[in-house]
Amino acid sequence: MQSESQQIRTPSVAIIGGGIAGATAAVHMAELGLNVHLIEKGSGLVSGPPICHLHAGGNLYREISTEQCIELLKQSIDTIRLYPQTVNKRPTVIAVPYSDGGSPEELYERLITIQDCYAQLVKQDIANKVLGEPADYYKFYSRDEIEALACLEQPKNPTTIDEWLIPFAKHADLDVLIFPVVAVQEYGWSVFRIAASATLALEKMPNCRLKAETQVIGVEESDQGWTVECVDREGNIEFLQVDYLVNACGYETGSIDDLAQKPRERLVEFKAAYVTHWPQCEELWPEVIFHGPRGTPNGMAQLTPYPDGIFQLHGMTKDITLFEDGLVASSADSSQPSLPLRLKTKIQKGWDDDVIIQRSRRAIEHMARFIPDYSVAHEFGTPLFGAQQIPGKDDTLRAADVTFEGKHYARVEVVKGSSAYEAAVKLVQQWQLFHYQDLTIEQLHPVTLALSEAEIESKAKELAQQRTYPQQLAQYYGQ
Ligand SMILES: Cc1cc2nc3c(=O)[nH]c(=O)nc-3n(C[C@H](O)[C@H](O)[C@H](O)COP(=O)(O)OP(=O)(O)OC[C@H]3O[C@@H](n4cnc5c(N)ncnc54)[C@H](O)[C@@H]3O)c2cc1C
Repeated sequence: MQSESQQIRTPSVAIIGGGIAGATAAVHMAELGLNVHLIEKGSGLVSGPPICHLHAGGNLYREISTEQCIELLKQSIDTIRLYPQTVNKRPTVIAVPYSDGGSPEELYERLITIQDCYAQLVKQDIANKVLGEPADYYKFYSRDEIEALACLEQPKNPTTIDEWLIPFAKHADLDVLIFPVVAVQEYGWSVFRIAASATLALEKMPNCRLKAETQVIGVEESDQGWTVECVDREGNIEFLQVDYLVNACGYETGSIDDLAQKPRERLVEFKAAYVTHWPQCEELWPEVIFHGPRGTPNGMAQLTPYPDGIFQLHGMTKDITLFEDGLVASSADSSQPSLPLRLKTKIQKGWDDDVIIQRSRRAIEHMARFIPDYSVAHEFGTPLFGAQQIPGKDDTLRAADVTFEGKHYARVEVVKGSSAYEAAVKLVQQWQLFHYQDLTIEQLHPVTLALSEAEIESKAKELAQQRTYPQQLAQYYGQ
């Protein structure tokens, strides 16, 4: 039987890992008044693998189920409601080139289902209308329509989908594309503004104690909960006693699973995107996806726009975004998949300049196959890179959140950042740490939602600079 003082004591939770998964869980739990310890071995929050696209409908992934797309849509809507200042509102164009071997028609039926789902969500709660009018969720364009747009000047502040598509219409090589192309309201997502939002919110909540530059080196389960052994930068060891333990270590989740003796199958994949500058670009681009079979020389090309002609490029070929032996699995001996040393070294020590230039150049050439004028762009500094975990054995899984072991241990294993908020809510529900009643996301997070656009952008720019990226990646872009 618990004593009275135990019954009224606020539950304590240790979260290991301050990426988007752990930081969002900390923000959510701290807003609910819980006693939170967030332990991050790096110097700041949300500084792991990059995030540039909010997958609000999963339309970039033709291989995933409609159920996963709907899951991603719902999670993305909640994410915008939690972190409204982190998205770059502009559409994404999805084009199928002849080199892909597929057809644009494949996208059609699923888009109707996703749009219907979005309309339902808006009907249930008008606060869900964060992706524009449901009727404008997507729009198909014939070649004639795109050619007509190519004759127009883009207004200074594009607002309609048509206006956003003008640069694509002017510069894409229409002869290599199968029509129609589609534009969908999947927005950009600034990893630096996510980092800034979480950092600023947590700074304002004293019930969350952030231990940065502190690594967890041991965990032990007891009847009461968990003991967590941490070592800080100076080598000081500290033991924390908590009721609940959340493992949110991203691609290193397996190393804590090993310490906790909670085995789990998972995959880890190392990938990179390249920061490039197209100085001649004076228009505001949408994001553009040119589909292609993954891992082949025709792999998908993705152009993500930022202010001032800065673009992030992905190319799903083995010598651009993907890497030889870059996808590894856990084993019977360890839940932690082991990346080849040359990739681990990139994460721990950074990249050689010649590799940055070589891979960025290839990314630019790959994009120029579809946008010939892009060939004049040049590399613009440190690539955005990292390893991403995928729970289980299916490397196409994109919507994953949380799993529980025993009464007091959970791992948050997100593949896409937008799953982080749902995972946080599931932790609280499973452990019955708070009764949500009918409270809205906005009512549950007064501190986070009180942050201003200006303070978030300013903090995000500071973080971008510290992490050696151009400030444009932190700035607002779009409507
Ligand atoms: C090239 C690339 C592009 C991507 N693009 C997108 C995108 O556009 N949109 C999207 O939604 N997702 C994208 N992703 C996926 C996204 O980056 C990841 O899903 C997300 O960052 C995972 O967040 P996380 O918090 O789980 O892990 P992480 O961000 O890896 O955070 C885990 C944290 O745990 C800390 N840690 C680990 N071990 C310990 C320990 N023992 N003690 C203390 N701290 C520890 C680490 O330092 C790290 O900060 C992309 C991934 C890659 C690789």
